[in-house]
This record gives sequence, structure tokens and C-alpha cells, in this order.
Amino acid sequence: MPTVYLGLGTNIGYKKENLTRAIEALSLALGRYTSLSSFLETAPWGFESDNTFLNCVVSFETDLTPQELLDTTERIERGLGRTVKSNGGIYHDRTIDIDILLYGSEIIKTPRLTIPHPLMHQRAFVLEPLAEIASDLVHPTIGKSIKQLANEQNNGKY
Ligand code: ADP
Ligand code: MG
Repeated sequence: MPTVYLGLGTNIGYKKENLTRAIEALSLALGRYTSLSSFLETAPWGFESDNTFLNCVVSFETDLTPQELLDTTERIERGLGRTVKSNGGIYHDRTIDIDILLYGSEIIKTPRLTIPHPLMHQRAFVLEPLAEIASDLVHPTIGKSIKQLANEQNNGKY
């Protein structure tokens, strides 16, 4: 079964609880997670907000297809009270965001789904927690390890 890496973020409400509840709901749907990063407090990215984020990355083995997985993550987002979806790069405060970062080493481009997540290599709030649990994993399209990407990100290369 492929290993999938999910990036979770929240910046309103009880953030630690939002992440914990999302991880519990994902575990119910997908089975127990195979690894989980620490929870990291980060500044909002791509929009202005007074509310800082709490982020983490969690991995699962799953036989769901990528589309089924997205249905599942969107259902869980709605269940945890997410109402507004981002559109055209306009970001909002959110109780929970679940992004599919990697699905094995698959490369997917459909109107609904792009995997690897197109912005993951630019985001410290993804690369840092991901490097905690999968530092040697190679990004399927960029061809560099997560550790390398995280280091370059820290050095301001992206
Ligand atoms: P963001 O995470 O950028 O704030 P949303 O969570 O509101 O945005 O998602 C916007 C859309 O992104 C979703 O409707 C979904 O179809 C699409 N999408 C494309 N690729 C992915 C992916 N890898 N993971 C999650 N959503 C994705
Ligand atoms: Mg999202």
C-alpha cells in the first residue's frame, strides 16, 4: 500500500484540539497513522491574519485512491467545521486544512488534485514537520530529498 503524507493546519479555535481531532478522524477512516510530526506554530502564509497557525504532518498507508482520499479529507474538514474553501490563491482563517502532500511517488494532475502538492517545496511549515518524519524521502518531481529542500528553504533559496 502506498504511504501518503498529509499536511494539517489550523489557525482558529482550539488549535491543538483541532489537529488532534483531525488526526483521530483520519485514523478512523484510514487506520492508525504510521508517523506523526510535532505540532509547529507558524506565521500565516500568503495572507494577513492575527491568528498564527499550528501545523503538523502525518502519514498513513492506504489503499484508497487519491480521489477517494481527497473525498475523505474534505469530509473530515467539513466535519470539523471548515466552511470556506480557498479559491484562486485567496486564503482565509480555517479551523482545519488537510492537504495531500505526497501519495507514494505518484505524480497526479487533475482539475481537483495535484500531487505532489504544488506549493509544498516552498513552505517551511510543510517541509520542517515533514523532514522530522521523512527526511530522506525524495520529492517525485524535484528529485531532491525533503531534508535538502528544507535546508534550501531555510537558506532562502525558494
Ligand atoms: P488551500 O489548502 O490552498 O488553502 P483548500 O484547502 O481550500 O486550499 O483547497 C482548494 C482546492 O485544492 C480543493 O478544492 C482541492 O480540490 C484542491 N487540491 C488540489 N490538489 C490538492 C492536494 N494535493 N491536496 C488537497 N487539495 C488539493
Ligand atoms: Mg487545503
